[in-house]
Amino acid sequence: MEIGSKTDRGMIRELNEDALGYHQQLFVIADGMGGHEAGEIASALAVETILNLEAGEPTLANLEKLILKANEAILSSIDEKSELKGMGTTIVALWIFKNRGLIAHVGDSRAYQLRDGVLNKLTEDHSLVAELVKSGGITEFEARTHPQRNILTRALGTKSLLEVSLQEILIKKNDKLLLCTDGLTGMLEESKIQEILLKDKNPQVNADNLVAAANEAGGNDNITAIVIKV
Ligand code: CA
Repeated sequence: MEIGSKTDRGMIRELNEDALGYHQQLFVIADGMGGHEAGEIASALAVETILNLEAGEPTLANLEKLILKANEAILSSIDEKSELKGMGTTIVALWIFKNRGLIAHVGDSRAYQLRDGVLNKLTEDHSLVAELVKSGGITEFEARTHPQRNILTRALGTKSLLEVSLQEILIKKNDKLLLCTDGLTGMLEESKIQEILLKDKNPQVNADNLVAAANEAGGNDNITAIVIKV
Protein backbone atom coordinates (compact mmCIF):
# COMPACT_ATOMS: atom_id res chain seq x y z
CA MET A 1 0.00 0.00 0.00
CA GLU A 2 1.28 3.46 -0.90
CA ILE A 3 -0.08 6.63 0.65
CA GLY A 4 -0.11 10.25 -0.47
CA SER A 5 -1.66 13.16 1.39
CA LYS A 6 -1.92 16.90 1.25
CA THR A 7 -3.82 19.64 3.04
CA ASP A 8 -3.80 23.25 1.93
CA ARG A 9 -5.36 26.54 3.06
CA GLY A 10 -6.51 27.30 -0.49
CA MET A 11 -6.39 30.73 -2.14
CA ILE A 12 -9.01 32.63 -0.12
CA ARG A 13 -9.31 31.40 3.46
CA GLU A 14 -6.99 32.72 6.15
CA LEU A 15 -6.95 29.52 8.16
CA ASN A 16 -6.86 25.86 7.29
CA GLU A 17 -9.68 24.26 9.26
CA ASP A 18 -9.24 20.86 7.60
CA ALA A 19 -7.29 18.12 9.35
CA LEU A 20 -5.98 14.77 8.21
CA GLY A 21 -4.18 11.88 9.79
CA TYR A 22 -3.57 8.17 9.58
CA HIS A 23 -2.23 5.43 11.73
CA GLN A 24 -1.51 1.95 10.45
CA GLN A 25 -4.44 1.34 8.09
CA LEU A 26 -6.92 3.84 9.51
CA PHE A 27 -7.22 7.09 7.55
CA VAL A 28 -9.18 10.15 8.65
CA ILE A 29 -10.09 13.55 7.23
CA ALA A 30 -12.12 16.25 9.02
CA ASP A 31 -13.37 19.64 7.83
CA GLY A 32 -13.98 21.93 10.78
CA MET A 33 -16.33 24.85 11.15
CA GLY A 34 -16.86 27.58 13.72
CA GLY A 35 -15.44 31.06 14.31
CA HIS A 36 -12.26 32.21 16.10
CA GLU A 37 -10.17 29.16 15.14
CA ALA A 38 -12.77 26.84 16.67
CA GLY A 39 -13.10 24.97 13.36
CA GLU A 40 -9.42 24.12 13.47
CA ILE A 41 -9.79 22.86 17.02
CA ALA A 42 -12.82 20.71 16.15
CA SER A 43 -11.25 19.02 13.13
CA ALA A 44 -7.91 18.41 14.87
CA LEU A 45 -9.64 17.06 17.98
CA ALA A 46 -11.74 14.66 15.90
CA VAL A 47 -8.74 13.28 14.00
CA GLU A 48 -6.61 12.97 17.16
CA THR A 49 -9.37 11.28 19.13
CA ILE A 50 -10.02 8.71 16.43
CA LEU A 51 -6.34 7.89 15.89
CA ASN A 52 -5.30 7.86 19.55
CA LEU A 53 -7.97 5.60 20.97
CA GLU A 54 -7.56 1.87 21.21
CA ALA A 55 -9.37 0.88 18.02
CA GLY A 56 -9.85 -2.85 18.65
CA GLU A 57 -10.68 -5.21 15.80
CA PRO A 58 -11.43 -3.61 12.44
CA THR A 59 -15.24 -3.76 12.40
CA LEU A 60 -17.89 -1.22 11.41
CA ALA A 61 -19.14 -1.19 15.00
CA ASN A 62 -15.68 -0.30 16.32
CA LEU A 63 -15.24 2.35 13.65
CA GLU A 64 -18.57 3.88 14.61
CA LYS A 65 -17.48 3.87 18.27
CA LEU A 66 -14.37 5.90 17.39
CA ILE A 67 -16.47 8.50 15.56
CA LEU A 68 -18.92 8.73 18.45
CA LYS A 69 -16.00 9.22 20.88
CA ALA A 70 -14.73 12.06 18.69
CA ASN A 71 -18.19 13.60 18.79
CA GLU A 72 -18.22 13.34 22.60
CA ALA A 73 -14.75 14.89 22.82
CA ILE A 74 -15.91 17.90 20.79
CA LEU A 75 -19.10 18.27 22.80
CA SER A 76 -17.19 18.17 26.11
CA SER A 77 -14.67 20.77 24.99
CA ILE A 78 -17.60 23.02 23.99
CA ASP A 79 -19.04 22.47 27.50
CA GLU A 80 -15.71 23.45 29.05
CA LYS A 81 -15.11 26.56 26.92
CA SER A 82 -18.11 28.62 25.96
CA GLU A 83 -16.15 30.44 23.20
CA LEU A 84 -16.03 27.15 21.31
CA LYS A 85 -19.81 26.98 21.09
CA GLY A 86 -20.91 26.35 17.53
CA MET A 87 -17.79 24.49 16.48
CA GLY A 88 -18.20 21.27 14.62
CA THR A 89 -16.64 19.12 11.96
CA THR A 90 -17.30 16.64 9.21
CA ILE A 91 -15.53 13.32 9.24
CA VAL A 92 -14.64 10.66 6.74
CA ALA A 93 -12.70 7.61 7.86
CA LEU A 94 -11.42 4.57 6.00
CA TRP A 95 -10.12 1.51 7.75
CA ILE A 96 -8.41 -0.99 5.49
CA PHE A 97 -8.28 -4.60 6.58
CA LYS A 98 -7.10 -7.27 4.14
CA ASN A 99 -9.30 -6.90 1.06
CA ARG A 100 -11.93 -4.80 2.81
CA GLY A 101 -12.42 -1.13 3.40
CA LEU A 102 -14.62 0.06 6.24
CA ILE A 103 -15.93 3.55 5.68
CA ALA A 104 -17.64 5.93 8.06
CA HIS A 105 -18.70 9.46 7.34
CA VAL A 106 -20.68 12.39 8.66
CA GLY A 107 -21.13 15.59 6.66
CA ASP A 108 -19.85 16.39 3.17
CA SER A 109 -16.30 15.03 3.21
CA ARG A 110 -16.17 12.16 0.76
CA ALA A 111 -14.64 8.81 -0.12
CA TYR A 112 -14.05 7.65 -3.69
CA GLN A 113 -12.75 4.45 -5.21
CA LEU A 114 -10.88 4.32 -8.50
CA ARG A 115 -10.98 0.91 -10.16
CA ASP A 116 -10.12 -0.06 -13.72
CA GLY A 117 -9.88 3.60 -14.66
CA VAL A 118 -13.29 4.57 -13.31
CA LEU A 119 -13.90 6.80 -10.29
CA ASN A 120 -16.85 5.92 -8.06
CA LYS A 121 -18.24 8.09 -5.28
CA LEU A 122 -18.80 5.92 -2.21
CA THR A 123 -20.39 8.41 0.18
CA GLU A 124 -23.51 10.52 0.04
CA ASP A 125 -23.14 14.01 1.49
CA HIS A 126 -25.17 14.89 4.55
CA SER A 127 -25.99 18.32 3.24
CA LEU A 128 -29.02 20.36 2.32
CA VAL A 129 -28.11 20.43 -1.37
CA ALA A 130 -27.56 16.65 -1.47
CA GLU A 131 -31.10 16.24 -0.15
CA LEU A 132 -32.42 18.70 -2.72
CA VAL A 133 -30.67 16.74 -5.50
CA LYS A 134 -32.10 13.49 -4.16
CA SER A 135 -35.65 14.83 -4.07
CA GLY A 136 -35.22 16.21 -7.59
CA GLY A 137 -35.45 19.84 -6.49
CA ILE A 138 -32.12 20.79 -8.08
CA THR A 139 -29.52 19.16 -10.34
CA GLU A 140 -25.98 18.07 -9.37
CA PHE A 141 -24.74 20.97 -11.47
CA GLU A 142 -26.91 23.51 -9.63
CA ALA A 143 -25.83 22.03 -6.28
CA ARG A 144 -22.20 23.00 -6.92
CA THR A 145 -23.00 26.72 -6.94
CA HIS A 146 -26.09 26.72 -4.72
CA PRO A 147 -25.93 29.55 -2.13
CA GLN A 148 -26.72 27.08 0.65
CA ARG A 149 -24.24 24.43 -0.46
CA ASN A 150 -22.31 24.69 2.81
CA ILE A 151 -25.25 23.78 5.03
CA LEU A 152 -24.76 20.34 6.55
CA THR A 153 -27.59 18.17 7.82
CA ARG A 154 -25.20 16.23 10.07
CA ALA A 155 -21.90 17.15 11.75
CA LEU A 156 -19.82 16.19 14.76
CA GLY A 157 -20.23 18.60 17.67
CA THR A 158 -23.91 19.38 17.25
CA LYS A 159 -25.62 16.75 19.40
CA SER A 160 -24.81 13.61 21.36
CA LEU A 161 -27.13 11.39 19.31
CA LEU A 162 -25.11 11.28 16.12
CA GLU A 163 -26.02 9.14 13.15
CA VAL A 164 -22.90 7.86 11.39
CA SER A 165 -23.13 6.44 7.86
CA LEU A 166 -21.24 3.17 7.62
CA GLN A 167 -20.39 0.83 4.77
CA GLU A 168 -17.99 -1.92 3.86
CA ILE A 169 -16.40 -2.22 0.42
CA LEU A 170 -14.21 -4.76 -1.28
CA ILE A 171 -10.84 -3.56 -2.46
CA LYS A 172 -8.34 -5.16 -4.77
CA LYS A 173 -4.81 -4.58 -5.90
CA ASN A 174 -4.29 -1.43 -7.97
CA ASP A 175 -7.44 0.24 -6.66
CA LYS A 176 -6.96 3.80 -5.50
CA LEU A 177 -8.99 5.21 -2.65
CA LEU A 178 -9.45 8.92 -2.16
CA LEU A 179 -10.67 10.73 0.92
CA CYS A 180 -11.23 14.46 0.52
CA THR A 181 -12.96 17.57 1.78
CA ASP A 182 -15.46 19.69 -0.15
CA GLY A 183 -12.70 22.17 -0.95
CA LEU A 184 -11.60 19.62 -3.55
CA THR A 185 -14.96 18.39 -4.84
CA GLY A 186 -16.41 21.92 -4.85
CA MET A 187 -13.69 23.09 -7.24
CA LEU A 188 -13.14 20.05 -9.48
CA GLU A 189 -15.53 17.95 -11.52
CA GLU A 190 -15.31 14.24 -10.77
CA SER A 191 -14.06 13.66 -14.33
CA LYS A 192 -11.12 15.94 -13.56
CA ILE A 193 -10.38 14.13 -10.28
CA GLN A 194 -10.43 10.82 -12.16
CA GLU A 195 -8.09 12.20 -14.81
CA ILE A 196 -5.59 13.38 -12.18
CA LEU A 197 -5.65 10.03 -10.34
CA LEU A 198 -5.08 8.17 -13.61
CA LYS A 199 -2.33 10.45 -14.87
CA ASP A 200 0.31 9.38 -12.35
CA LYS A 201 0.81 6.11 -10.47
CA ASN A 202 2.26 7.75 -7.38
CA PRO A 203 -0.40 8.67 -4.79
CA GLN A 204 1.64 11.55 -3.35
CA VAL A 205 1.92 13.07 -6.84
CA ASN A 206 -1.86 12.56 -7.16
CA ALA A 207 -2.58 14.33 -3.86
CA ASP A 208 -0.27 17.24 -4.77
CA ASN A 209 -1.83 17.55 -8.24
CA LEU A 210 -5.39 17.42 -6.90
CA VAL A 211 -4.68 20.27 -4.48
CA ALA A 212 -2.85 22.27 -7.17
CA ALA A 213 -5.76 21.85 -9.61
CA ALA A 214 -8.31 22.93 -6.97
CA ASN A 215 -6.19 26.01 -6.29
CA GLU A 216 -5.93 26.76 -10.01
CA ALA A 217 -9.72 26.53 -10.20
CA GLY A 218 -9.98 29.23 -7.53
CA GLY A 219 -9.16 27.50 -4.24
CA ASN A 220 -12.25 28.93 -2.55
CA ASP A 221 -11.96 26.67 0.45
CA ASN A 222 -9.39 24.60 2.36
CA ILE A 223 -8.41 21.54 0.32
CA THR A 224 -7.47 18.14 1.71
CA ALA A 225 -6.89 14.78 0.08
CA ILE A 226 -5.52 11.38 1.06
CA VAL A 227 -4.83 9.00 -1.80
CA ILE A 228 -4.18 5.33 -1.05
CA LYS A 229 -2.93 2.96 -3.69
CA VAL A 230 -3.68 -0.62 -2.74
CA1 CA B 1 -14.68 22.87 3.61
